[in-house]
Amino acid sequence: MIRDVQEILLSKEQIQERVKELGEQITKEYAGKEPMLIGVLKGSVPFMADLIKEISVPCTIDFMAVSSYGASTQSSGIVRILKDLDSNIKNKDIIIVEDIIDTGYTLKYLIENLMSRKPASIKVCCLLDKPDRRKVALDINYRGFTIPDAFVVGYGLDYAEKYRNLPYIGILKREVYQTP
Ligand code: 5GP
Repeated sequence: MIRDVQEILLSKEQIQERVKELGEQITKEYAGKEPMLIGVLKGSVPFMADLIKEISVPCTIDFMAVSSYGASTQSSGIVRILKDLDSNIKNKDIIIVEDIIDTGYTLKYLIENLMSRKPASIKVCCLLDKPDRRKVALDINYRGFTIPDAFVVGYGLDYAEKYRNLPYIGILKREVYQTP
């Protein structure tokens, strides 16, 4: 464990096992279909990479980038598209792949934005759910883990672009992001 991390919340093994289960669930529920997984950059990259290897129906992937926190640990509630999809999603079965759902503002915005493009369906797959801080009601179809209200890093999740490469998910020490 690195010095800036206070506690490991989810080990590499726990994540791998759960991602496998999520992939199997998606495979079952999308039998005969060809879903398109839309990852939200950059935090969902390791999750997306592991998840698609556990899905055995044909699928495609695409990515979007949206602004959420900048270099802060608080959501502003204002979401902007920084990079749009490369593909047309009309009549496609979409699965949004998110690293973490906190207030829910980002996902609510994404769902509304993607719905306007007339896909056949939209479902949501998130690795981590932090329900204590939810501001908008959302349906999460595939959920990796429910976690307590703490700022976490690793397995794609960053603080000021750091820690994305950690193989586990850990709670960041407060002193790293709070100036005394
Ligand atoms: P929401 O819009 O649901 O508040 O936040 C979603 C986005 O905020 C996530 O995609 C993620 O980028 C960021 N986020 C929320 N909670 C955390 C956290 O505990 N750690 C990190 N690193 N990012 C978070």
